[in-house]
Amino acid sequence: MKDIIIIGGGAIGCSIARFLSKYKLNILLLEKNIEICEETTKANSAIIHGGYDAAPKSLKAKLNIRGAKMYKTLSEELGFTYKNIGSLVVGFTEQDLEVLEELYSRGLENGVEGLSIIDGYAAREMEPFISKEVKYALHCSSAGIVDPFNYTYSMMENAMENGVEIKTEAEVVSMEKRLEHILVKTKDEIFKTKLVINAAGLFSDKVANMAGDDDFYIIPTKGVYRLLGKNKDMILNKVLFQTPSEKGKGVLVTPTYAGNVMLGPTSSKLDGNVAPTEEDLETIDRLSKKTMPELDVKTTIRVFEGVRAKPNTRDFMIYKSEKMEGVIHVGGIESPGLSSAPAIAEYVEDLVLSMKSLELNKSYKKEKSIRGYTAKSYEGMDLEEIEEAEREIICKCEGITRGEIIRSINNINGAISRDGVKRRTRAGMGFCQGRRCGPKVREIIATELGIDESEIKEGLSGKELIEKYFK
Ligand SMILES: Cc1cc2nc3c(=O)[nH]c(=O)nc-3n(C[C@H](O)[C@H](O)[C@H](O)COP(=O)(O)OP(=O)(O)OC[C@H]3O[C@@H](n4cnc5c(N)ncnc54)[C@H](O)[C@@H]3O)c2cc1C
Repeated sequence: MKDIIIIGGGAIGCSIARFLSKYKLNILLLEKNIEICEETTKANSAIIHGGYDAAPKSLKAKLNIRGAKMYKTLSEELGFTYKNIGSLVVGFTEQDLEVLEELYSRGLENGVEGLSIIDGYAAREMEPFISKEVKYALHCSSAGIVDPFNYTYSMMENAMENGVEIKTEAEVVSMEKRLEHILVKTKDEIFKTKLVINAAGLFSDKVANMAGDDDFYIIPTKGVYRLLGKNKDMILNKVLFQTPSEKGKGVLVTPTYAGNVMLGPTSSKLDGNVAPTEEDLETIDRLSKKTMPELDVKTTIRVFEGVRAKPNTRDFMIYKSEKMEGVIHVGGIESPGLSSAPAIAEYVEDLVLSMKSLELNKSYKKEKSIRGYTAKSYEGMDLEEIEEAEREIICKCEGITRGEIIRSINNINGAISRDGVKRRTRAGMGFCQGRRCGPKVREIIATELGIDESEIKEGLSGKELIEKYFK
């Protein structure tokens, strides 16, 4: 019998797992894909929003502000990249200024720190390459950027070090309430648990339906991005937004945690049309160049898409089910879900504490430990040979070594696919997008896992995720 089953291994499920691992509980996380971090969490803007955008008094506003404040300490404890670089919402007209003033007052009401409205000159002092047409800007010094993949992996690894178990390729298909427990069924297994936490992202409404709840539904919304190469001549210090519209926060220009430039996302209702269209790319180019006219979209190394789990209720849906006792839904976690993730986990922790008294896990460690490992790739080598092999650069674009790749596989929640290695180490994320290092990475995965290369599993592409959604 499990104490808690968490459904879904995205940023939210993994954060909840880590926060609950400080208690003496028998926790299992079930994930339907081959690895965690395979859906919404793997393709987003990776911004830690200041919190001026969300409607005052909403759960989104409260958890965004709290979550953004938690990132610095968490990044120090767990070792993922977080940079508090600040953001600017740029305005071109008097009308835009009115929107900026609205955002400013909303920000103050929400409790955002470090907000000010500045003129175009001050904005260009911070960002020399923004358009000369920019007349006003809302500066938010508390905004930042994060590595969303390693945020999620670190949360899960730390949770596992503290005793949480994980099962992948375990899609939950139904739940059934018995007197004292709930039966959670996957295609292959049945688990007994006292409590279920639904953190199923795009599918959180479907999982809620399994408990008999229909208080919200998800409107999947596509967002397309362009990722540009690293350009030392183009200074970009902050996240640059344009004034938001009904459709969302608009097209942004932002540095990524690794130093690339990212443009996007678009926003269109998902209708089964998976590929980014000419219109998507035209919108991105036109709007991002309005902010920064000298952007060179010819340096694009990748176009990709993410899917937002937009709830019809417009706010996060985090609540105890009234239909099935012992179930907590954490659904509709659209943006700023990543910014809010640690605060959502804390909020869920409080909900769990309101349902049962919990004993602390005395051996809980909040820092991730540095793990030793035995690499199959180094069998038969002496120390000198191992050191040399460790330093060999496998991904030349990003300067990733064999040692880093091997460590990403031999981890407590190690990579089992090329995408898994890529998201953990950046091998394959550079200019050639893995064309050169891909075969070597596959070879290392096969050696370390002791399997044939043909047996290596591959994760979902954005296109496959969207196709699967409509099945
Ligand atoms: C285009 C775009 C831009 C964004 N930009 C930002 C931003 O800049 N800042 C920000 O704060 N937020 C942003 N977000 C939002 C943020 O990415 C999400 O809020 C966050 O990633 C949601 O995480 P999640 O764990 O709820 O969902 P997911 O990452 O989708 O995880 C849910 C998991 O549940 C699993 N699952 C589903 N059903 C089942 C089942 N039946 N059984 C087992 N497992 C199941 C899935 O496989 C998946 O792994 C953006 C989102 C998008 C799409």
